[in-house]
Amino acid sequence: MADYDLIIIGAGIHGAAVARAASYDGYNVCIIEQYPEAGLATSNHSSKLIHGGLRYLESFQFKLVKECLHERSVLLKTAPQLVKLIPFHIPVYKNTKRQSCLIYLGLTLYRLLGGGTFKKISKSEWHSLDGLNTDNLKHVYQYHDGLTDDKKLTQAVLADAIKIGAEFLPENKIIKIELEEESVHVQTSQHKIISAKLLINASGPWVNDTLSKVTPSIDALSIDLVQGTHIVIPRTISKGIYYVEAADKRVVFAIPWKEHCLIGTTETPFNKKPEDCVPQKEEIEYLLTTWNQYFNDTLTNDDILESFAGLRVLPAADDSAFNRKRETILHTDNDKNAKIISIYGGKLTAHRATAEAVMEIVHKRLPGHDKTDTSVLSFES
Ligand SMILES: Cc1cc2nc3c(=O)[nH]c(=O)nc-3n(C[C@H](O)[C@H](O)[C@H](O)COP(=O)(O)OP(=O)(O)OC[C@H]3O[C@@H](n4cnc5c(N)ncnc54)[C@H](O)[C@@H]3O)c2cc1C
Repeated sequence: MADYDLIIIGAGIHGAAVARAASYDGYNVCIIEQYPEAGLATSNHSSKLIHGGLRYLESFQFKLVKECLHERSVLLKTAPQLVKLIPFHIPVYKNTKRQSCLIYLGLTLYRLLGGGTFKKISKSEWHSLDGLNTDNLKHVYQYHDGLTDDKKLTQAVLADAIKIGAEFLPENKIIKIELEEESVHVQTSQHKIISAKLLINASGPWVNDTLSKVTPSIDALSIDLVQGTHIVIPRTISKGIYYVEAADKRVVFAIPWKEHCLIGTTETPFNKKPEDCVPQKEEIEYLLTTWNQYFNDTLTNDDILESFAGLRVLPAADDSAFNRKRETILHTDNDKNAKIISIYGGKLTAHRATAEAVMEIVHKRLPGHDKTDTSVLSFES
């Protein structure tokens, strides 16, 4: 007999969210993490936004935006101590690629999808916008979206799962996975051998590395890992987030973060092991240049307080990562009795919806449990 109904590999936001949903539904869950705490990988290196993603409208990802805006509203109700609405400012200059009519259209669509109201900031108030460069400035739009502490959010979701009965095994790296007729057995670096009826592969950028440990071998999806770097600079911005266009026309955010300012992000192809992901010199220069351009400042490398990088998991393709689909992909072996469900990509914002989608599959494979509506369950920080 298997030790658990579910083993979840990875205590990032997705693993924690599946552990929470499955525990509320009455499944017996064990979540295994290689690091000492939950939320130390991608889910600690995001832009920390709980948002629909205004910029995803440019690549027509309406379903994703709508789902994320719904999840934003759920989190604002169920975790108000962790997720706050904050003003976002979009300055439009004479040479900005996304001109005023496009921003207006985007914000109107965003509002229709559930993103809330927006307005133009009057010229007489521009001087109060944290030293924003006003040369050739034509308009500044303001709307609202959510900001969180991604690591704290992940740990709060996991704490709720543990409260309901999930077991958490930190500092255990999965090194071997064996599929058997009725169960799946995993072996960890601490020599633990644990079995379950189903395995959820929530190992983020290690998703295919985890699948490579399975015998007999199973299919993996073809993916690109794309690195995103952030820097923290010693500047205080008090009016909210700034949403600006970098020299290559990508969107970059300047975000108030723990008394300082967080700037990100980049999209750099990545071909090493996920654990070797570190900010690159060129990425830091790109972010500094963007800040200096918009805030009449001359920050240099020496001013940087901290920098960090995380990895996006995107479907493999030849086009630019910026417009690539950001929806979560759930992958199971073609066999209808497949025992492994892998989570590819996704958004911090949509973690609860992703967990619900995983649970749809789990309920079909392991019937006999009632579904709990997690969208109405509050959790603590
Ligand atoms: C630069 C960047 C900015 C982003 N900004 C935003 C944003 O502002 N808003 C938003 O909604 N989304 C954002 N995202 C997306 C979001 O951060 C990710 O989708 C999410 O954090 C992924 O979570 P995860 O649980 O899948 O992966 P992770 O957080 O990486 O968790 C995977 C876990 O699995 C563990 N693990 C892996 N292999 C093993 C093993 N063999 N044994 C045991 N444990 C293992 C890892 O240690 C890790 O803790 C951003 C992503 C990036 C890269």
